[in-house]
Amino acid sequence: MLEATIIRNGYVVDPESAKIEKKEVGILEGKFIDPSIIKGKVGYVNYIDAKESYVAPGFIDIHTHVFKDYTYLGIAADEIGINQGVTTIVDAGSTGIEHYEVFKRKIMNTSKTEVLAFLNISKKGLCNGGAELANLEDLMDMAEAEKIFETEASILGLKARMSSSVVKDTGIKPLIHARKLSDALNVPIMVHIGNPPPLIEEILPMLKKGDIVTHAFHGKQKNRIITSNQTLLPAAIDCLNRGVLFDVGHGSASFSFKTLAVYKKKYQYPFSISSDLHIKNYNEPVGSLMQTMSKIRGLGYSLLEVVQAVTSLPAKTLQLNEQGTFAYGTRADVTLFYEKEKSARLIDSEGDALMVEKVIEPYLTIREGRKVFESNAGTIQNGN
Ligand SMILES: [Zn+2]
Repeated sequence: MLEATIIRNGYVVDPESAKIEKKEVGILEGKFIDPSIIKGKVGYVNYIDAKESYVAPGFIDIHTHVFKDYTYLGIAADEIGINQGVTTIVDAGSTGIEHYEVFKRKIMNTSKTEVLAFLNISKKGLCNGGAELANLEDLMDMAEAEKIFETEASILGLKARMSSSVVKDTGIKPLIHARKLSDALNVPIMVHIGNPPPLIEEILPMLKKGDIVTHAFHGKQKNRIITSNQTLLPAAIDCLNRGVLFDVGHGSASFSFKTLAVYKKKYQYPFSISSDLHIKNYNEPVGSLMQTMSKIRGLGYSLLEVVQAVTSLPAKTLQLNEQGTFAYGTRADVTLFYEKEKSARLIDSEGDALMVEKVIEPYLTIREGRKVFESNAGTIQNGN
């Protein structure tokens, strides 16, 4: 018998048509379909009551660390994935080529959340501590990179953590190597920025369309995208104009309300929202992808914008054709969530506080048409 589902009674947030409207979402055999087709042709339909929650394509978090037990910071993928309304997570460089098979077997293949990866350009990834680019001998070579990218569809690109504690004395050299690999393989680089060396003025000009700058809105003294006269660095503007994506990558030390507030005043370039969640920032300051979205909502971005920042925008940048969309025939990953009227004091990585009056919370998570997580938010919502 065909497996058909209709999600009804929800406010559908469609990141592509940029509309929020009350309507139904149809799913047949794990793929989106026009609900009227199901009603006419399929005998039994399983109805999911959205209970007036928002209904969006499954959320994507493009910067996480889920190599649990093999790195010092790994967290369980489902803990920050489906249990928090996130259907696809991308591990950002926890694994290099040396441990990829283990990562695939232990994490990707055992999680209910879809787990994809940016492969660290260091062969060791984060399995040998956090200074993985201090020795140039540890860089993945071209032949091994070609081989693994040819066979592993779950690897989306390369990760290069370009800050002083990671590169030590090698400076910009690891990124020069990453650029060569990226150009030969035609895959993007996610670059992390932080304290120099290398300088942000050395890093940004090396990036091309489709590459991603994570920790883009950090608040460190040096290497910020914002200059002392509160405008974007010329190198950052050039980057955005070339089609490089800026990404939040909140993390323990890499998201500042002040930096984003300055950016928001003058610039409209969209950016993706990711958490950089791992075991050490899970409780605070990050919490979850939705909490990160609540912070950005609190700075004045619209609900549609923060949903696009975790669905259509990262999906398009990373050429994920099955994710971030309600297009008929694509995989039915769905995130149901509430935006609750609730006062909360949220903090960024600098310890600055923001009072918000609304918070985004997960209700139901659906993967390939099936419910994989339900919180009690729907019951509470109905009861008040
Ligand atoms: Zn990270």
